[in-house]
Amino acid sequence: MKKGCVVCYVAAIILVTTLLQTCSVTAFFADAVPQPFVSPGHGFPGFNSMRHRNILRDEVTARLKELGNVSDSKDVLQRTFLSPAALAAGRLLAVWMKDAGLRTWEDELGNVHGRSDGANATAPALLLGSHMDTVIDAGRYDGALGIVTAIAAVKVLKVEGKLHQFPRPIEIIAFSDEEGIRFQTTFLGSSAVAGTFQPKHLKNVDARGISIGAALRAASHLGTTESVSSLKYNPASVWGYVELHIEQGPVLEAHGLPLGVVEAIAGQTRLTVRVHGSQGHAGTVPMSMRKDPMIAAAQSIVSIENICTHPEKGVGGSRGATAMSTAVNHAGAIVCTVGEIHSWPGASNVIPGEVMFTIDVRSKDDSDRETNVVRIEGGIHKICRKRGVRCSIERKHEANAIACAPGLNDRLHAAAQAAMKELPPFRNNVSALDDGGFTAPTLVSGAGHDAMAMASLTQVGMLFLRCTGGVSHSPAEHVQDDDIWAGSLALLHFMEGVLGDLSR
Ligand SMILES: [Zn+2]
Repeated sequence: MKKGCVVCYVAAIILVTTLLQTCSVTAFFADAVPQPFVSPGHGFPGFNSMRHRNILRDEVTARLKELGNVSDSKDVLQRTFLSPAALAAGRLLAVWMKDAGLRTWEDELGNVHGRSDGANATAPALLLGSHMDTVIDAGRYDGALGIVTAIAAVKVLKVEGKLHQFPRPIEIIAFSDEEGIRFQTTFLGSSAVAGTFQPKHLKNVDARGISIGAALRAASHLGTTESVSSLKYNPASVWGYVELHIEQGPVLEAHGLPLGVVEAIAGQTRLTVRVHGSQGHAGTVPMSMRKDPMIAAAQSIVSIENICTHPEKGVGGSRGATAMSTAVNHAGAIVCTVGEIHSWPGASNVIPGEVMFTIDVRSKDDSDRETNVVRIEGGIHKICRKRGVRCSIERKHEANAIACAPGLNDRLHAAAQAAMKELPPFRNNVSALDDGGFTAPTLVSGAGHDAMAMASLTQVGMLFLRCTGGVSHSPAEHVQDDDIWAGSLALLHFMEGVLGDLSR
């Protein structure tokens, strides 16, 4: 028996030593290489964010799944402004807002609000939110994520008894329309709250000829200019607006981190170009005698790529003289897309008579955008002149860039960093990066968000959450459960920071 025990001891020591070696090798790799963000499970002493993992992670993922099933189509996710599924989604969100300790109401544009007065009902309110409408064949995270994570963070404040101590009112808003799918007009919900909703839009009609006003009346709202105008918040009653959203791009994934802070939302110019040539027979007109608008369009599109790959900086008026250093410094600062092209009459045996294409130009710097739009326009006119075709360029849409508020961004940076440090194995990676002055990545949003509309009302801040492959507006849109946890936890840290203002 005694001899047997010695063998057991030796075996046990060998086993423990082997395990320790394995663990230290794993730890080495965890430090050296950014690892996929996996669930930490249990048994991390001192890991205080294990508190409320059920609310911040598990309940959020379950709710996103449930909300993702609220659709107007059996086959794909589709919730457009005031559709039956959109209204059902609003009711579901109101239930969850109530569960987080908020009183709720639906406003005259179908936005769903949940509010707690906190310790001072008349102090300027902290607004949080995102949109509950979706594109057609959507993913379940775009928009919904920002609402459901905010509800979770507020629910933790309630559970911990801090909601009524909050120094200012907290209000979550689920905006009824951001994507603009049904009425081809974006930010309907947030523009009403921000006071920039244009009453003429009440006459916009959907594919079935139903106007926004009529759709509102069908959903038991008044649908009048007055009822919508009354939604405008008094700027003095609002402290700021914070939105968490999926990145919809690949940058955070490339950084190997779940969270980033948005520095600005890019401004946009949309152009429509029409090139008119000589329509003719594909077999009978010699190449030298053609005025083919398709070739002019093709050459123009390549010129647009060249300009946007090597943009010229607007500030300082360097227009017309491309400095190489400027081009290098500004590479990536502007993005240009030709997403739509049509030819008339569009037959394989006809030289087209007209070609129409669109250009979408975005940059965080309005003056850079304008400089390069002028270069694009000039380039197209030059190509058209050379090829003997006529072209016209129309500016269809112009929106200036929005800078996020530095004060809110500082708080969001700190909150994002604290959240990532609490969640292993990021804790190791972020701590290692800290030595080099690490801060959460700062990003520019190329996509528009409700924060863009809200910026005309109040200071705005945004957090981006990594999504797999940068894919969005697709059923393939995906966010890891633990990344969602990091997002909700960051919002909680942000609010706890505001709560800490009381003691300052
Ligand atoms: Zn969105």
